[in-house]
Amino acid sequence: MAVPLFNTSAPLAAIDADIRAKVSSILDAGVYVLGPEVRAFEAEFAAYTGTAHAVGVANGTDALVLALRALGVGPGDEVIVPSFTFYASAEAIPHTGARPVFCDVDPDTFCITAETVKAAMTPRTKAVIAVHLFGNVAPVEEIEALGVPVLEDAAQAAGTVLDDGRRPGALGTIATWSFYPSKNLGAFGDGGAITTSDDTLAETVRTLRFHGSRDKQTFELVGHNSRLDELQAGILRVQLPHLDGWADGRRAGARHYQEAGLGELVTLPKTAPGARPAWHLYVVRSERADELRTVLNDAGIGARAYYRTPAHLQPAMREWGEGLDLPGTAEAARTNLAVPMSPVLDRAQADEVVAALTAVRV
Ligand SMILES: *Cc1c(COP(=O)(O)O)cnc(C)c1O
Repeated sequence: MAVPLFNTSAPLAAIDADIRAKVSSILDAGVYVLGPEVRAFEAEFAAYTGTAHAVGVANGTDALVLALRALGVGPGDEVIVPSFTFYASAEAIPHTGARPVFCDVDPDTFCITAETVKAAMTPRTKAVIAVHLFGNVAPVEEIEALGVPVLEDAAQAAGTVLDDGRRPGALGTIATWSFYPSKNLGAFGDGGAITTSDDTLAETVRTLRFHGSRDKQTFELVGHNSRLDELQAGILRVQLPHLDGWADGRRAGARHYQEAGLGELVTLPKTAPGARPAWHLYVVRSERADELRTVLNDAGIGARAYYRTPAHLQPAMREWGEGLDLPGTAEAARTNLAVPMSPVLDRAQADEVVAALTAVRV
């Protein structure tokens, strides 16, 4: 039986009628940008993350740029960012005029640590982008204890929760989200948000997303056009009450893999202390990752490597990445392999993945 790498259609099928009804009602209302659905989603998402404010924007990459600008990041500043992440985490930095400074990750968690950040800090460090990669949780408080504000890139961490009930998006100074369709909370197109409990930062990103204006008459800042639309916000509102159930399904999927013995064949991702990750991707490590991918794909099982060329080695980052030695990043990039993960990954599917991999070992 084929096992897909992701399965977003099965969970959405269960709420199909609700989504269609919501879309119809928005078409009837005829308000398409920054209207009542966006306002309601912002209130609901802020309550969900446990922050005072959520601000809807056009996508997760814009969210990063606006959040960095609100933090006052600009020319002459440095922003620390992991290299083992989706490229957009780093790409946002030069848009502000600042310089990306790449730091290493712990290959066991795929996240940055206070030590790797410390090694990259200079007097010019203005902020740190902590990516909660694959849904795991970066140690935001330990990093802020170094005396630098943390922007959480929570694009992959919707549904993740800490044992004490707090969530990514509420752990640092400001946080960014992507609602790209494949994310744990996905729109039917592009969408993003910024969460923060700082009133001033929230007001600044609200202004920046609409051309630097509060009243559409006076333009105080050179801003952006980066708005969330009503259809996306409405669709996200229908999904939000289901997010925790889907996250439980992803956590159950990870347990199925553990109980099926996947950890005897490959290195499993290490859960950050105190975290209950909503695995956006379930990424294992093996020195034979490419061979295992071929075997899985030949068996009809989705598997792929992520970020084989990490951000600091991408051509556009040459100016800032050349000659860096990031051993944890190199290891994660070389050995990682995402295996199927979704809210509906069951034990039989986990057994099938393990059986296919067991066949290679002998
Ligand atoms: C998806 C993603 C982004 C970018 O989000 P978009 O909505 O596609 O612009 C940024 N950072 C991380 C870690 C992501 O996974």
